[in-house]
Amino acid sequence: MMSFTGGCRCGQIRYEASAEPIFAAHCHCRDCQYASGTGFSSVLAVPAASFRLTAGEPRAFDVAAESGNVVSRKFCPNCGTPLFSELKAAPGIWIVKAGSLDDPEIMKPSMHIWCESAQPWMPSNDGLPRFPKNPPMG
Ligand SMILES: [Zn+2]
Ligand SMILES: [Zn+2]
Repeated sequence: MMSFTGGCRCGQIRYEASAEPIFAAHCHCRDCQYASGTGFSSVLAVPAASFRLTAGEPRAFDVAAESGNVVSRKFCPNCGTPLFSELKAAPGIWIVKAGSLDDPEIMKPSMHIWCESAQPWMPSNDGLPRFPKNPPMG
């Protein structure tokens, strides 16, 4: 079983997870553009039961996502690192930002999602499948 750890830039917030990711994707939704400062965020979806905070208390900013569902986006109140998101419509899943992993190289993206809001200046020729909205699940 895969396990990984991560946290924010200043070290105040730490987390760990022990499970295979449900999926790993580059997400081009507008909220991920705000959170990343560029065209997409690279994220791992992990089972909520396998995910736990080990230090600190992130702040949350809730948004109504393009999907129509509320997404609670967690970040470090001290250094501002975007960390992970809680999907109110899918409480079994946490979405972890790959950039906050201690070893970001473990990220194995398999698709692009929310490509309907992908930016034309963010080209991709990596050959991965591209979905207009959420990935097909199950
Ligand atoms: Zn921090
Ligand atoms: Zn997104």
